[in-house]
Amino acid sequence: MPTTAGIAAVAEAAGRLLPDEGVITDRSRLRTYECDGLAHYRVTPALVVIPEDARQLAGIVRVCAEHQVPFVARGSGTGLSGGALPHAEGVLIVTSRMRSITAVRRDDQRAVVEPGVINLDVTKAATPEGYYYAPDPSSQQICSIGGNVAENSGGAHCLKYGFTTNHVVGADFVTADGETVTLGGVAPDNPGYDLLGAVVGSEGTLGIVTSVIVRLVRLPEEVRTLLVGFESTDQAGAATSAIIGAGIVPAAIEMMDALAIEAAEAAVHCNYPEGAGAVLVIELDGPAVEVEQEYAEVERLCRENGSFEQRVASDPTERALIWRGRKSAFAAVGRISPDYIVQDGVIPRTALPEVLRSIAEVSRSSGVRVANVFHAGDGNLHPLVLFDDAVEGAGDAAEKVSGAILDLCIEHGGSITGEHGVGMDKAAYMPRMYTDEDLDTMQLVRCAFDPQSISNPGKIFPTPRLCGEVPGRKKGAHPLQEAGLAEVF
Ligand SMILES: Cc1cc2nc3c(=O)[nH]c(=O)nc-3n(C[C@H](O)[C@H](O)[C@H](O)COP(=O)(O)OP(=O)(O)OC[C@H]3O[C@@H](n4cnc5c(N)ncnc54)[C@H](O)[C@@H]3O)c2cc1C
Repeated sequence: MPTTAGIAAVAEAAGRLLPDEGVITDRSRLRTYECDGLAHYRVTPALVVIPEDARQLAGIVRVCAEHQVPFVARGSGTGLSGGALPHAEGVLIVTSRMRSITAVRRDDQRAVVEPGVINLDVTKAATPEGYYYAPDPSSQQICSIGGNVAENSGGAHCLKYGFTTNHVVGADFVTADGETVTLGGVAPDNPGYDLLGAVVGSEGTLGIVTSVIVRLVRLPEEVRTLLVGFESTDQAGAATSAIIGAGIVPAAIEMMDALAIEAAEAAVHCNYPEGAGAVLVIELDGPAVEVEQEYAEVERLCRENGSFEQRVASDPTERALIWRGRKSAFAAVGRISPDYIVQDGVIPRTALPEVLRSIAEVSRSSGVRVANVFHAGDGNLHPLVLFDDAVEGAGDAAEKVSGAILDLCIEHGGSITGEHGVGMDKAAYMPRMYTDEDLDTMQLVRCAFDPQSISNPGKIFPTPRLCGEVPGRKKGAHPLQEAGLAEVF
């Protein structure tokens, strides 16, 4: 178990390995790191270290392992599920000084970056070569590639191009005992188990990524962005399904409902179609001839599904204006509500109209307002559940509505998170999707990487089991153990 002596040993080692400004022990400065983007969970870490390179980072993890001190990786701290929430008796390892773009290789369409590199900076570095980095979370101006890898982050353009996992081909990775290993590589399809695949989306629970090889995508010849107004989310949802059903995969299809539009108007005056019950932002990209053809088809399908207004951006300024409303939507909700929960669930795209109707019903019956802004093409919902924390019971009511929305996602064949991860926030919902046996099996993977359970403990799993995380809690053997197929470390 971690002890004050353990923390003191890590602090002492950090003092040797890192420059002074890379080791934070002062309580008031430690509090700067007490939460991520999910600010209602707060824990002050015992120690913060900010390594400058992979060697320093691995050295810190090694000492943590020797003394069984828990550690948590933190990139930019924009996570919305409490994944980078510190451990009170542990070390927070911040990658914000590891921001080198080591290589941009036009010839094999790869970039090699340190984990603290900001997502958008990869695109900025690749654009002069005619390339860009496709996964584009709305937080791309501040979130880190390491955080993106850990969360398998998505974004508006992941509909066509795939999520982070489709763009990470290799990584250097510090295991929970401080060893550095290389997973994947520049060439595709290494033989053996897909350990890189296991690390992407593991939310910092298997170890820490210290270098990432990402795939770069050619900048498209033509981009066309449409803003389409509908009377209802039903119509907008039906248009989304019709477009995909016609075999067209736009770079992005994003939806906002009336309340989300109202918030965006109040914040950034985006001038979206007046009276719209829903808008779609649709972006087509690719060779000019193909975009022209797809545009005609999309225009027709939207009209057939009830659109009453369509605008096309004819230059980058107009395109930016269309995107401004969508990209500002989360923050904009602050204009119409003092507090809100950003929910994240995913459903099959065809269930969109039905689930949106059910969310509206839950909102009506509970009296809790819900604004919807989301990646419609992927069926990745982001209901914003509005409340005023100053009103007694309002927070609890919002939490209840938030949970009911996740239940709807599960009932319709979806999942409790589309891209923000489970972290701290949704650990309690995991049993709604998985049986105890499923969860135990997942934890066998975790134990194989981190037998001491010191890498970001307390996240993802509602009940820590196996590897002695909470000794004595686990009742009986796992079915895989009983069958002699797996072993508890
Ligand atoms: C306004 C706003 C909009 C957002 N929009 C989107 C969106 O469109 N799509 C989307 O997917 N997300 C979105 N997010 C969520 C968030 O930005 C992403 O999850 C992002 O990937 C987190 O990156 P970060 O650097 O801030 O990571 P952090 O918050 O610092 O950490 C996130 C998780 O990654 C782990 N981690 C960090 N670095 C490493 C590393 N080097 N190795 C191993 N584990 C590590 C942490 O332990 C933690 O579990 C949004 C957030 C905000 C605030």
